Amino acid sequence: MRKGLFLSIIVAATVFMTQTFVQAKTTFVTIGTGGITGVYYPTGGAIAKMVNKKRDQYGIRATVESTGGSVFNVNSVMSGDLDFGIVQSDRQYQAVKGMADWEDKGPQENLRAVFSIHPESVTLIVAVDSGITDIKDLKGKKVNIGNPGSGQRQNSIDALNSVGIDFEKDIKAENVKAAEAPGLLQDDRIDAFFYTVGHPNGAIKEATSGARKVRFASITGIEKLLGQYPYYAKSAIPISFYPGAENAADPETFGVKATFVTSAKVPDNVVYALTKEVFDNLDDFKKLHPAYNGLTKESMLEGLSAPLHPGAIKYFKEAGMIK
Ligand code: GLU
Repeated sequence: MRKGLFLSIIVAATVFMTQTFVQAKTTFVTIGTGGITGVYYPTGGAIAKMVNKKRDQYGIRATVESTGGSVFNVNSVMSGDLDFGIVQSDRQYQAVKGMADWEDKGPQENLRAVFSIHPESVTLIVAVDSGITDIKDLKGKKVNIGNPGSGQRQNSIDALNSVGIDFEKDIKAENVKAAEAPGLLQDDRIDAFFYTVGHPNGAIKEATSGARKVRFASITGIEKLLGQYPYYAKSAIPISFYPGAENAADPETFGVKATFVTSAKVPDNVVYALTKEVFDNLDDFKKLHPAYNGLTKESMLEGLSAPLHPGAIKYFKEAGMIK
């Protein structure tokens, strides 16, 4: 009897100690992404997968959160609600400099860059029956420009401005999340929507495979815009990803890059581990989404405006990627 009790105590104590040990050893980190039909969400999942494989070695467990997008992610990383975020390169630039959505709050001094990922194009999807073929045709139309908190909202406004369209007066602007826009377009509740996103993605597949025929509209005549902002560059959308769209050629537009950011307050060993696992296993990482096709180690250091996090610097130096 006594022996049995003694054994039970030993077992209970061992279980308790093991649990405490495992808990103390594991660092939980959350990555802010975007809507689940975008590319940020699977990208957060891909990064988490790379580091979670080595949980025994690093003691890190990364999870992903679906969010409203870039602006939300910057703000949540700065407040400490998220540890990492995927953020458009233009938004990273503006946050560091205290521009656009950060004009009132000022420069986000604790924002740190880790690496950049896939290119994103400012994508304008329109219903064929709306008669729109180019951004200039949007006057008087019902257009989703994106939710506050998204990255694309400012891109939509900039693009409209550059062709002389005031989003507050000249169009009926909707402010819903990109994930809801394909459904609204199919239901004839909007004529068009903007989405700054990598290709291919679920949202545009959804929009181009419904009963209402849709096409990509071109965004041209934006030379002034490209000259004005250092973070915008011309791009084209590979139409072959979307056989349901009524386009013959790749639509012309402009774009930015998706980047991976964190806060100066996140420990170096955590940032180091995530960076190392993505870069050391880049070929495996690239297989996780077709939007990563053109990625190279060099291209993943482009488009970063915030200072690099010391944990990322440690890896890039070890790998001989920076001096
Ligand atoms: N670029 C979008 C944003 O920052 C998100 C795109 C995506 O989720 O892939 O709001």
